[in-house]
Amino acid sequence: MNFENHLAFAQSMDSKDPLREMRNEYLFPQQNGTPFIYLCGNSLGLQPKSAKKVLDQQLQLWQNLAVEGWFEGDEPWMFYHKELKRLMAPIVGAKEAEVCPMNTLTVNLHLLMVSFYQPSQKRYKIIMEAGAFPSDQYAIESQVRFHGFDPKDAIIEVKPREGEYTLRTVDIIEKIEAHANEIALVLFGGINYFTGQWFDMEAITKAGQGIGAKVGFDLAHAAGNVPLALHHWGVDFACWCSYKYQNAGPGGISGIFVHEKHFLDKSLHRFAGWWGYQENTRFLMEKGFVPETGADGWQVSCTQVMPMALYHASLKLFEKAGNMEVLRTKSKTLTSYLFYIVNQVNEKLGFEQFKIITPTEENDRGAQVSIIARTHGKQIFDHLVTNHVLGDWREPNVIRLSPVPMYNSFEDVFRTGELLLTLSKSI
Ligand SMILES: *Cc1c(COP(=O)(O)O)cnc(C)c1O
Repeated sequence: MNFENHLAFAQSMDSKDPLREMRNEYLFPQQNGTPFIYLCGNSLGLQPKSAKKVLDQQLQLWQNLAVEGWFEGDEPWMFYHKELKRLMAPIVGAKEAEVCPMNTLTVNLHLLMVSFYQPSQKRYKIIMEAGAFPSDQYAIESQVRFHGFDPKDAIIEVKPREGEYTLRTVDIIEKIEAHANEIALVLFGGINYFTGQWFDMEAITKAGQGIGAKVGFDLAHAAGNVPLALHHWGVDFACWCSYKYQNAGPGGISGIFVHEKHFLDKSLHRFAGWWGYQENTRFLMEKGFVPETGADGWQVSCTQVMPMALYHASLKLFEKAGNMEVLRTKSKTLTSYLFYIVNQVNEKLGFEQFKIITPTEENDRGAQVSIIARTHGKQIFDHLVTNHVLGDWREPNVIRLSPVPMYNSFEDVFRTGELLLTLSKSI
């Protein structure tokens, strides 16, 4: 596509955008009446206008029905998660039975590792990306220790090559194959939080399972951002949070995926709780855990209705937008436009003030662009905020900007470029 660095061009792109009305469904932060250009949906998605209403409805149900709410009313809480399963499944490319909303992300990562990281003395290593999100690093280290192994020995990290920021698929696969007999689990982010690199999940799954390991993904930055096909790719398990690209609110409920090929596998350990018990006999309260078939069997505690109501409100907007392909089509163009605009800023300045470390290739990234400023990175970032552009800063030196197709516009991107140029000239 031939982009142009003009307001009129950006506005004409917006007028042709089939998703242009979607931004009216969300609330943008403001300061003294000026709304922010919000480029931080990779960290905390915006509040749907419907969020307040659904919470009010649930509070009303709680008030009117109290305990009866579990089985009475139009949407009894006992079955509330089912409607979410229906809406979540297409976002990650799964069957309804393979997904379930529950807990929070790192907690689910632990619960799923209980099932899918069952090391033996020979096969006990975990392979992951270097520079994974800290929570994942800590969770994996502690799991390894819990099984009596030393993280220094048991965790293999795949690193970028000298002078590079992102991983090459060949290097990931080579590493997996080099340790073929020792690896119990391949656990990657779908999209790396720092660089915005979208890994070749299908190739990683194939390579990991090819050497006899289980393969799982943390989809915190991928779910709701890029189209996924977890079932088709044969991924063993995955989990994600709903508060980044899925706009379900701070600390929002997490989702899990367990491939149906594992539904009847009794050799998988689980940390059980009553809500994972077979649904139709759960309230007989009998001794001896019998799991519900499917991802639901990994539930531990009773349904978290309030955070689920928020996730539900957001998922309805994904349904309204169409499907992940529709969002992705806009996302590719919008993110490419941000690449173009940042390069335009460099061109106008006459030197590379902003180095993009996110992969240039469209299929290797989602909506996030990670930028290293040659100088004054933090200062430029702070100025962006003062001037009502909200991205985020990641230590030690990266500005992350995420034009989210659900609610960002081409004009947002154009205006951000104008600011980057003025700010760079003024420091
Ligand atoms: C955001 C994020 C988390 C956060 O985990 P919580 O348990 O929701 O606090 C974990 N892992 C990754 C990869 C993330 O991007």
